[in-house]
Amino acid sequence: MLELEEALSRIVTLIHPGAAETIPLAQTLDRFLAEPVRAPIDLPSFDNSAMDGYAVRAEDVVSAKPDAPVMLRLAGRVAAGEVLSTGIEKGGCVRLFTGSAVPTGADAVVMQEDTKPVPNEPDKVFILDSAKAWENIRLRGEDIRAGAVLVEKGERLTSGRISLLAACGCSELLVGARPRVALLATGSELTEPGVELRPGHIYESNRLGLAALCRRVGAIPELFPLVPDTLEATRSALKNAFSQCDLVISSGGVSVGEFDYLKQAFTDLGGELQFWKVAIKPGRPFVFGKWEEKLLFSLPGNPVSAVVTFLLLVRPALLRWQGAAQTSLPVQSGILAETLRNPDKRRHFVRINIDEAGKVTSAGTQGSHMLGSLAGANGLVDVLPQTTLSLGTTVRVLRWE
Ligand code: AMP
Ligand code: MG
Repeated sequence: MLELEEALSRIVTLIHPGAAETIPLAQTLDRFLAEPVRAPIDLPSFDNSAMDGYAVRAEDVVSAKPDAPVMLRLAGRVAAGEVLSTGIEKGGCVRLFTGSAVPTGADAVVMQEDTKPVPNEPDKVFILDSAKAWENIRLRGEDIRAGAVLVEKGERLTSGRISLLAACGCSELLVGARPRVALLATGSELTEPGVELRPGHIYESNRLGLAALCRRVGAIPELFPLVPDTLEATRSALKNAFSQCDLVISSGGVSVGEFDYLKQAFTDLGGELQFWKVAIKPGRPFVFGKWEEKLLFSLPGNPVSAVVTFLLLVRPALLRWQGAAQTSLPVQSGILAETLRNPDKRRHFVRINIDEAGKVTSAGTQGSHMLGSLAGANGLVDVLPQTTLSLGTTVRVLRWE
């Protein structure tokens, strides 16, 4: 039985990212950059005003005070998008608005509130306050310098990064491709939701839960028909799934029961089993295999085990396939509001709920078939074998919702 970290590193070393593709910036949210992007221009790209006001020469207004205003000549006006062909000279000023290009010769902007009109002299302005050199001016390149790396390879395109890239004029990006993931569910007891249940049958829930988790990390899930527990059906379902998708995720049929055909069907098709047991609870039976250049992840059928093994072992693989640099679950620190016990010999990933204050409570009964406590959970706490974490302990919470 493999330790989780060993299992994960064996998976990650077999992932070959898909081909990168160039797409419009508008479609890049949550994709991963396949190459670093450098700033093609300075940001701001010209000195501009931070205020509605007047561009001045700071030395002309050193003595300006509300009760001793300095009168300047109005030499022009720069509306948004305009530039002034002439600069300003001693004793002159120019009307500006936020974002207006600062005319040559000016080295400060006095905000409108510190000025007043000169009665009957529309081409003059009273300045009521002094200004330090470069006050209220946003300097060219003060935010970003041309040539600087804006976003590194492997980073996720967040809304903030998209804003930055747009501001620098980027219109297309080279990003990792999104994997098409086949989702199979095996089990002769499984029924599609919406169909009447026959005695002994249950509704199939793994494909939809896993599809939602796939989408969260950018993969494209495809639901395949339910697979009854026969070797023949399992073989042909796997073959069909591999022919249509980049990766295959199945659930069920990986334990030691006589109806568990997954491993057999996979090796019959020429697949190479890499490992099939990981020392975690829930989720011990977990098959990882390689079929030509494609990979198989076969998760346990119990719905909670399927989710936990997906989060710990499949999610990182789907991210790496897209070229993501960061593949682990986000971690948040919390404080236990109740004691968590793990008498088992395997690590237990306990479903918990963490609130805004960081208070951590168990999400409920932890059986690997118990969906109520899965629906109520927003994190997992890794409790080591034969360990008790008492109330008040600070814990690392792995977040996924
Ligand atoms: P298995 O891993 O096939 O032995 O299944 C373990 C348990 O999970 C059994 O109780 C199954 O009925 C249940 N199960 C398996 N697959 C699914 C599924 N896709 N949706 C819901 N329950 C499932
Ligand atoms: Mg089964």
